[in-house]
Amino acid sequence: RLILAFESSCDETSVAVVQNGSEILSNVVSSQIKSHQRFGGVVPEIASRHHVEQITYVIEAALTEAGKTIDEMDAIAVTQGPGLVGALLIGVSAAKSLAFVHQKPLIGVHHIEGHILANRLVQPLTYPLIALVVSGGHTELVYMANDHSFEIIGETRDDAAGEAYDKVGRTMGLTYPGGAKIDKLALEGEDTYHFPRAMLHEDNLDFSFSGLKSSFINTIHNKEQRNEPIDKANFAASFQAAVVEVLVTKTMRALEHYSVGMLVMAGGVAANQGLRQGLAAALTAQFPEVELVIPPLSLCGDNAAMIGAAGDMLLQQGVFSDMSLNARPGFMFEKH
Ligand code: ATP
Ligand code: MG
Ligand code: FE
Repeated sequence: RLILAFESSCDETSVAVVQNGSEILSNVVSSQIKSHQRFGGVVPEIASRHHVEQITYVIEAALTEAGKTIDEMDAIAVTQGPGLVGALLIGVSAAKSLAFVHQKPLIGVHHIEGHILANRLVQPLTYPLIALVVSGGHTELVYMANDHSFEIIGETRDDAAGEAYDKVGRTMGLTYPGGAKIDKLALEGEDTYHFPRAMLHEDNLDFSFSGLKSSFINTIHNKEQRNEPIDKANFAASFQAAVVEVLVTKTMRALEHYSVGMLVMAGGVAANQGLRQGLAAALTAQFPEVELVIPPLSLCGDNAAMIGAAGDMLLQQGVFSDMSLNARPGFMFEKH
């Protein structure tokens, strides 16, 4: 099975060719980060324009790199949502046009299902499993009883982890997105500030990061007012320690409540070194029988190969879309 996959939900224009849902033949990602940096975040209008400008080149590159033609594809998959409506529409329109012209089945994919099923490109998944989804817009624990059921068993009540990283990075004067930069700085610092770990002792699987973010910003502003130097590495390390402790503790709690054989990481923040190490260490200590799957950095952030992996699953299940497929900016998880 060959799938041509599209992802354009935010600021990456990406097209991939994926074989049997497990093998990447190509995964071309055109990032627009530089165009958004001077605004400190993604500007929707600019994002849409970039997608329009890039998409045909990215399609060409993905097919050339894979050494395949569109006629060899078994289906065309595309991110339907959630995301920026103007950005999603570019991928959806391109996928629909090609599906129509080449008479290929069309498959609409949920962006977060894509992040989770990116792990299929790492190794075969076994069910039931738990996914820790940590991205720019989502922080969720998802229970999958089988390959077509996504149950949110815990989620953030306010900010997503990646969003908190980026806001905190901005306060420290780091360019957008700040996540990876804080991760790097954290290696050189220590947890000297002991920021609050929200909801750690509450008996649920939910998260909250806005209090941590405010505490961080207030501490920095107070220092600035007193003209004290900002020890960026310690700030970064303290912030990261709080985020990682909460994510790891709640994930271990989920494993207490749900008996699974596999834990998978998903989303841009899954690239975080502190989190990867923290989760691996906790799992070894508390649930050595649970297998941990961590995607390579190239599959953590937005990319089309993950949409191909999820699309392939839908193809096998016979779940197709028709030409009425539309962008769904607020697309929620649905249990199929
Ligand atoms: P969503 O997937 O929820 O719709 P998104 O697609 O914008 O949101 P992703 O592309 O999955 O988000 O992830 C981007 C986020 O990951 C950004 O917030 C970025 O700062 C964060 N991120 C990337 N690398 C790291 C890292 N090493 N440590 C922490 N955060 C990181
Ligand atoms: Mg992005
Ligand atoms: Fe994403």
